[in-house]
Amino acid sequence: MLIRVLAEPRPGDARVALVPRSVAALVGAGHRVLFPSGAGAAAGLPDRSYSEAGAEVFTGPPPAADLVVAVGPVTLEEILPTEAVIAFLDPLGRPEEMARLAEAGVTAVAMELMPRTTQAQAMDALSSQATAAGYQAVLLAAARLPRFLPMMMTAAGTVPPAKVLVLGAGVAGLQAIATARRLGAMVSGYDIRPAAAEQVQSLGATFVGGPLEASAETGGGYAGEVAEDTRARQLAALAPHVEAADIVITTAQVPGKPAPRLITRQMVEAMRPGSVVIDLAASTGGNCEVTVPDQEVDIEGVLVLGPRDLANGTAGHASEMYSRNVTALIRHLAPEGDLVIDPSEPITAAACVTHGGDILVPAVRAARGGGA
Ligand code: NAD
Repeated sequence: MLIRVLAEPRPGDARVALVPRSVAALVGAGHRVLFPSGAGAAAGLPDRSYSEAGAEVFTGPPPAADLVVAVGPVTLEEILPTEAVIAFLDPLGRPEEMARLAEAGVTAVAMELMPRTTQAQAMDALSSQATAAGYQAVLLAAARLPRFLPMMMTAAGTVPPAKVLVLGAGVAGLQAIATARRLGAMVSGYDIRPAAAEQVQSLGATFVGGPLEASAETGGGYAGEVAEDTRARQLAALAPHVEAADIVITTAQVPGKPAPRLITRQMVEAMRPGSVVIDLAASTGGNCEVTVPDQEVDIEGVLVLGPRDLANGTAGHASEMYSRNVTALIRHLAPEGDLVIDPSEPITAAACVTHGGDILVPAVRAARGGGA
């Protein structure tokens, strides 16, 4: 197959969909890889490393390909000329763009629709990028907090450790907890799913008392929306912990729905000036009432950040992990060299959004208003 890597078109996206190690593996499997000059630079990967791995580095207009791989999200115009694309495509948020891809006859596979199954684990880019984002969230918070994270015993006196509270203990939240622990902070965590309590504690953090709902856990370990009375109890239970924290990192998400509101403006106002809130759910509406995506909000000295592209802060490793996910998917979809789209196969059924001129995923059709 002729695989072309896309130079990410969004300003600020420092990641690249394939790293040289994956290029070498794909070339070894008989594929050709076309690489746009400079596309790896922001991730610390020069053209030379790609040509040494067997890629054909090009400049100028993109050559035609069988498959374009990108981080995304991308538009039809950005990927052409190609037969197929693998990327984060935001299919539920951009159903009309999926319709355009279908009309153009492009086969589109969305990384965010990968099932959370053992078979698809190596292709789970949501997890790999959430790992990078959770880690980076703690570094960002630590850099903006006017205090140390660890306890310090110095000749100038003893400094107590900073208190870090992590709300939502999925992939990003658990990585944030682990990172904050490594930096010596006193860490606590909370999640609506009872199974998360043990995971938080196994990382040496305290599980904050709050409502737990076994029924909140839906298929694949995801949480569903909680009822209004549960939400009110959550806010009441979390308020004193938010108030006491130096850093709050929020990561709570409900797939396909707005992020649950876990922090009110009043709760932010009650925090100590200098404290920092990092809201990783900013792209789906935010867990904090005052979050503005990609902006800094100052509420009486408390800084609230809603960065949507945190994985870029560690673009080298985020790209490496994404590249492994994409390569595993290519191996899965093209075991003999060419893409084979079999809608009855579970990974294809879940993640292949368009093929043969049709939108295959019912939820994307429903998002267009065309019914499931
Ligand atoms: P996510 O990004 O959808 O949500 C992050 C966290 O927010 C979740 O832990 C969720 O329970 C929590 N949350 C949602 N609503 C909440 C609320 N009202 N209050 C508090 N917390 C709330 O989730 P994710 O990080 O993608 O992972 C979710 C689950 O999937 C986890 O159970 C994880 O172990 C599982 N998972 C499984 C696999 C696999 O089997 N291959 C891979 C990755 C993740």
